[in-house]
Amino acid sequence: MTMARLIDGKEIAANIRTEVAAGIQDLTASGRPAPLIVAVEVGHDEASASYTRNQGKTARKLGLEHRLDTLPATCTMADFEAHLTALAVDPAVTGIMIQMPLPDHLDANACRRLIPIGKDVEAVTETAAGQVLQNSHRVAPCTAMAALRCLQEAAPGGIAGLDVVVVGRSAIVGRPLAMLLLHANATVTVCHTRTRDLAEKLRRADVVIAAVGRAGVIGGDMIKEGAICIDVGTNWDEASGGLVGDMRFAEVEARAAAITPVPGGVGPVTVAMLMANALRLAQA
Ligand code: NAP
Repeated sequence: MTMARLIDGKEIAANIRTEVAAGIQDLTASGRPAPLIVAVEVGHDEASASYTRNQGKTARKLGLEHRLDTLPATCTMADFEAHLTALAVDPAVTGIMIQMPLPDHLDANACRRLIPIGKDVEAVTETAAGQVLQNSHRVAPCTAMAALRCLQEAAPGGIAGLDVVVVGRSAIVGRPLAMLLLHANATVTVCHTRTRDLAEKLRRADVVIAAVGRAGVIGGDMIKEGAICIDVGTNWDEASGGLVGDMRFAEVEARAAAITPVPGGVGPVTVAMLMANALRLAQA
């Protein structure tokens, strides 16, 4: 029995960050200002703020500017719109992110529509989704891009022609990822809670990508020997007091050719992809 090769997300992320830092240097050397990412939160959530602070640290190391705007939890849709509209027209702002979840009294979709496509650094708008569908996008959702990049690293023969099963069909991960894979000429199956016999579909796959959000839903007996396994899931595990993926790691590792660990797989690559997206928007 051979153990799967670990796909090292930290190393992939470091390589992306090096490319981004070089790109920012070229940009500023040509007299352009450093790109600025603005994250907007409504009400203060310490977990989300700590995540954003880390994002800010990474950004600044690469020569990007990063700012967190906090609006009061009581802010109205009109207040929020006014704030976003100001960011939309501010030439110093490269990318706008809305921290989710928003309080119930704000309509998340209506808020997202206020981000102009040229500043949609996370590719969350309907226009960005349409561009991903048409393969005319400048940037795509960071986690979907990160999963694709991990797969590219693990598939030396390329992705074209591979049978890929994506488990999960969310608007930010599963669906855009399925489109990106299709553009890369994979044969894509997307599974979800209404899929009949998930195990049978997974056992036929050359590549399994899990974006479910349920610890251990995918076991080794569902994986074809030699498959590439990409685990996007990040689930809090009380027992170990840490993050675990959607795959039962030890079991899947024993059958797969390559696997992303959790943590240290898709997660770090996602953050690096956000920086790459900011650079792409700044270069436009
Ligand atoms: P989501 O919106 O909750 O979507 C989960 C998807 O999984 C849904 O399409 C759901 O099907 C499907 N699903 C749930 N249980 C299933 C089951 N037992 N069998 C088959 N399909 C099932 O989640 P998300 O936002 O896409 O995130 C997915 C996971 O990725 C989460 O763990 C999240 O924390 C993680 N994530 C990681 C990163 C990162 O940087 N690594 C970034 C974003 C998200 P239905 O559509 O039928 O409900």
